[in-house]
Amino acid sequence: MPKYPDPMSNISNFKIIESTLREGEQFANAFFDTAKKVEIAKALDAIGVDYLELTSPAASEQSYNDCKTISSLGLKAKILTHVRCHMDDAKLAIDTGVDGLDVVIGTSSYLREFSHGKDMEYITNKAIEVINYIKSKGLEVRFSTEDSFRSDLVDLLSIYKAVDKIGVTRVGIADTVGCANPRQVYELVKTLRSVVSCDIECHFHNDTGCAIANAYAALEAGATHIDTSVLGIGERNGITPLGGLLARMYAGDKEYVKNKYDLTMIREVENIVAEAVEVTVPFNNYITGYCAFTHKAGIHAKAILNNPSTYEILNPQDFGMTRYVSIGHRLTGWNAVKNRVEQLDLDLTDEDAKRVTAKIKELADVRPLSLDDVDTLLRTYHHAKGTGGHTSVFDKIDTPDKIADISVPKQTK
Ligand SMILES: [Zn+2]
Repeated sequence: MPKYPDPMSNISNFKIIESTLREGEQFANAFFDTAKKVEIAKALDAIGVDYLELTSPAASEQSYNDCKTISSLGLKAKILTHVRCHMDDAKLAIDTGVDGLDVVIGTSSYLREFSHGKDMEYITNKAIEVINYIKSKGLEVRFSTEDSFRSDLVDLLSIYKAVDKIGVTRVGIADTVGCANPRQVYELVKTLRSVVSCDIECHFHNDTGCAIANAYAALEAGATHIDTSVLGIGERNGITPLGGLLARMYAGDKEYVKNKYDLTMIREVENIVAEAVEVTVPFNNYITGYCAFTHKAGIHAKAILNNPSTYEILNPQDFGMTRYVSIGHRLTGWNAVKNRVEQLDLDLTDEDAKRVTAKIKELADVRPLSLDDVDTLLRTYHHAKGTGGHTSVFDKIDTPDKIADISVPKQTK
């Protein structure tokens, strides 16, 4: 935590709008049938995300029906759907029973010229009409621009001011093309914070790898809501990933994040989504990547065994994960090997652990050893010590393959 907390910062007070069932549907491989949408919605609700955002009911008949189905599940999370700034879309969405509408319209010169072809006056009037209508039906309404970072700042601020004045629930900033960096985000959100009084939602694409950092910078500058998707899936290479954002926010305020969200559910929802869209969870994924809590270098292993915080900002237990200290390689150290001796409950001295470590390093120069290999060496050494033959017990083992030839002594003590 910073020494002098910034009064604008919301890193200890933010909400997650989970968009796997909207942005995530725009991922190249995504196709969720109703049953899969319901399964994903329930798993996300179990984590405790504040909102679920669904594909517009105007997209297709099934999308309309799925909005109705998920709205009637009785989840704790509020249900939103994402619609164009258009009366027909708004009316259709309200019919589905959602709690709120996320309204979007493009304001960048590119979108105005090459997409919808409307000027700012038209956009502002349309926004006011649609927002007033949604509010009159008693629903939450967010108004977002698209491609906000390539929109004219004066245009942006004037339209946000106009919708804030008529009581919009939230305004949204969207880095639709993934061009923004944390400093630009901080500046824009801070400026926006000073001209509107409503909540501020942010949506960041990850084309240049800034989606999590941008979300954090936005919250520091006073944003209140962040859009995420599971594994970051979305249009192109996606948006801020839910797991990665939670890791970042945990590092910012552990107690707040632990108390608000069930972090042990992250792995399950990632597995559901990964399977549904036919991808594997990346090896270096935040929290759940297979090596996320593996410690290898001898110096790291020693310190981790003494106090995990030395090399861990995230406690694996808080995420339902386990730490693994890798010891069968040439960078290993005797402290880690000694720790394994204790796990196996073998009666060996530090001197013994150092001797076996020297053998592990020698063999691991040929190829890495499995934990079974390491255990075999330790048990063999321990057994030989009982008969006084431990100083020469490894003489014939000059390659890792010969470990397999050792018949492992039965006793453990
Ligand atoms: Zn997007």
